[in-house]
Amino acid sequence: MSDIIQLLPDHVANQIAAGEVVQRPASVVKELIENSIDAGATSIKLLLKDAGKTLIQVIDDGKGMSVTDARLSFERHATSKIKDAQDLFNLNTKGFRGEALASIAAIAHVELKTKQENEELGSQIKIEGSKVVSQETVSTAKGTSIAVKNLFYNIPARRNFLKSDTIETRHIVDEFQRVALAHPDISFLLHHNNNEVYHLKKSNLRKRIVAIFGAKMNEKLVPISEQTDIITVNGFVAKPEFAKKKRGEQFFFVNNRFIKSSYLNHAVVNAFEGLLEHGSHPSYFLYLEVPPNSIDINIHPTKTEIKFDNEKALYAILRATVKHSLGQYNVAPILDFDRDATLDTPYNYNKKNGSSSAPPITVDPTFNPFKTETDYKPETISTPKSGSNTYQSNFKKDTGNWEALYTNIETTPSIQQEQLFESQKETETGKTFQIQKKYLLSSIKSGVVLINQSLAHQRVLYEEFLENITIKEASSQQLLFPVSISFSSADIEMIYTIKSDLESAGFMFDQFTKESVIIGGIPTSITESKITLVLEQLLDDIKLEVPDASFSHFDVMAKSFAKSLAIKTGTVLSVKEQENLVNDLFSCKEPNTSPFGKATFKTLTLNEIDSIFNK
Ligand code: ADP
Ligand code: MG
Repeated sequence: MSDIIQLLPDHVANQIAAGEVVQRPASVVKELIENSIDAGATSIKLLLKDAGKTLIQVIDDGKGMSVTDARLSFERHATSKIKDAQDLFNLNTKGFRGEALASIAAIAHVELKTKQENEELGSQIKIEGSKVVSQETVSTAKGTSIAVKNLFYNIPARRNFLKSDTIETRHIVDEFQRVALAHPDISFLLHHNNNEVYHLKKSNLRKRIVAIFGAKMNEKLVPISEQTDIITVNGFVAKPEFAKKKRGEQFFFVNNRFIKSSYLNHAVVNAFEGLLEHGSHPSYFLYLEVPPNSIDINIHPTKTEIKFDNEKALYAILRATVKHSLGQYNVAPILDFDRDATLDTPYNYNKKNGSSSAPPITVDPTFNPFKTETDYKPETISTPKSGSNTYQSNFKKDTGNWEALYTNIETTPSIQQEQLFESQKETETGKTFQIQKKYLLSSIKSGVVLINQSLAHQRVLYEEFLENITIKEASSQQLLFPVSISFSSADIEMIYTIKSDLESAGFMFDQFTKESVIIGGIPTSITESKITLVLEQLLDDIKLEVPDASFSHFDVMAKSFAKSLAIKTGTVLSVKEQENLVNDLFSCKEPNTSPFGKATFKTLTLNEIDSIFNK
């Protein structure tokens, strides 16, 4: 038999490697910016077109490359960062595998311009799908500019797999924020489709966080600082009252590299014990410095997980440090003295200053972080005074009684529904009861129907919004005084991209600034006090959305609004409100499920009830 094994040609090998290194435009952004940082840049510009699908360009003022290096940089395993295996244990650069540029050049049109400080002229190289199409001497600024165009142009399957521009932009912004947070001493610029999204000047950490997340962030930050033999911790946590419903602003950096660690996250969350409402997540920006040889550096190029040698000790230190700072800033109610002693030992033991006596902390043991809200209840429970949580039917249709409802129905009702309507017609008033501030119970001829009030209301609102957005002229109410709402610039950018969809839903925007939007009109079904909540929820939902081919924001929007505005479990409903809700639900096109697919009601027939007792 003849031999059948052969070496893959370079461009094929590069394409395969690219599959690992480059998942989406954001991966290219990460690799290029990290290269700029490794090259000692003090200023990095990122220019994007169409969420990076058309263009990703990174321009830096770093040390540049010689003519030969410029050409070599695109070869696989070509790196200036390590020379032998030993170097792997003393890494202080972001890259070291020498794969990124080769991979990117295999799947895009790449144009590199670079010049070293003392050279008169620089070089320009154009590569398409691993093939060098031109190399010449050019005059260019000191540093490096790499433009990556038409990503995945030669791998249609990968290109088609890319998500909507909104989502790909979100991924890029996430990467951008991570490096920008890790390097406050470098200035960063981000332009998308010629709009400036970020202009971050060289500054300190606190200012950098505020520049990225908006001026409101400043008052939220509690500084964290601790130094021990095995770890140095610096950074900030946000005060507990600013904890978010969605995880979002949670950043760990280890030796200036963004990482994810559910273990360390647990330590931080644990330090907030007793201070957070159920289901909310504290924001934090924590910078850990550990000896490079105490972490496993041999990690996958795109993975953000990491392995530490002394996980347990790090956990204890982190927890104690955060707790201590919260106590010092008078946000923790009381220091707990029943701490797990085993967790504390390594912390004290490793204290650098030798002395193990902690600085005196004056703590008000009666301090209650929630005392401003005399009647504190978790968010999901309505505060009676607000009034906006009580159920008011927004339905313009006349669904005052079951009779009308039955005759109005356009779609063929399911047998169950038919039964329901039929029997309800006969009970006339449709008496309802509220159970545990969560369910409505109504007696029908064939038995009873149990309705989940929150899910039912979600369905009602969802259909109402969809109808408003897609069929009718959006009904909008002009605000007497336009409302200005602050967002991070990334969020502003996102609102801007879905502006026309929001307008279809009834929002009116008076002005966009870098950190706020001024809203002059809102959909009739939203109250002014809920605007921020509704928009923040929408942004969170869009970030998580899974788009399909016929992607439109309308459905995501209607779902998101419905979720934000639906009456919650725990809301007491008057009999009238209960009836309106039941009526509204059964005049929906699909009353059986919530917009998220959960059952809104269940009927129990008399037979079923009987069988419970005849077992
Ligand atoms: P790695 O970063 O793992 O070394 P890359 O493929 O990302 O591999 O880059 C290859 C080499 O090209 C780098 O080691 C570096 O010498 C050079 N290089 C890449 N980008 C830049 C840049 N922006 N400025 C200067 N040199 C660069
Ligand atoms: Mg690199």
